Amino acid sequence: RVDMDELLRVLLVEAQGLSQGRHEVVLEQQSDRWLWGSVNELHSAFGNLVSNAIRYTPAGGAVTLRWQFDGNRAVFSVTDSGIGIAREHLPRLTERFYRVDRGRSRNSGGTGLGLAIVKHVLARHHARLEVSSELEKGSTFSVSFPRERVAEPDAVTP
Ligand code: ATP
Ligand code: MG
Repeated sequence: RVDMDELLRVLLVEAQGLSQGRHEVVLEQQSDRWLWGSVNELHSAFGNLVSNAIRYTPAGGAVTLRWQFDGNRAVFSVTDSGIGIAREHLPRLTERFYRVDRGRSRNSGGTGLGLAIVKHVLARHHARLEVSSELEKGSTFSVSFPRERVAEPDAVTP
């Protein structure tokens, strides 16, 4: 089982480290549920979404990490107020080496493998990736897990 309290705390610290104070980084933890799966794989997948959000959001913007469970699906999402992605690019984002051909992303030194790895890891965890985005406004990448993948947290020992 993956301790989501701990993983979210680690992701928050990593986001703050990447941002270097240039963004408002927020964690909204609305669920105490854990996940069945590999902590290393989920750390790498969620971490990719977080590093993209920081990388593609100019200074002064906001990046929010969210963890929710509605009784059916559990959702980890990252919302940024960054450069956004044009609709025509959305279907191809998770292809290997695919990068949106705009000045800013071309010059920001990635390989275009991040989301391909995310897709692979999420398939192994029966999770679904959804992206909504508006140019110049920002993006939300949501990862949702079916109920069978959601675990109870360990009881807190007093
Ligand atoms: P890598 O992750 O391998 O370092 P990368 O970030 O370019 O490189 P991906 O993470 O696969 O590669 O992302 C693919 C492309 O999708 C990016 O090049 C960028 O154009 C676009 N993209 C991804 N996340 C965002 C985001 N949060 N905002 C705007 N564009 C994004
Ligand atoms: Mg990336």
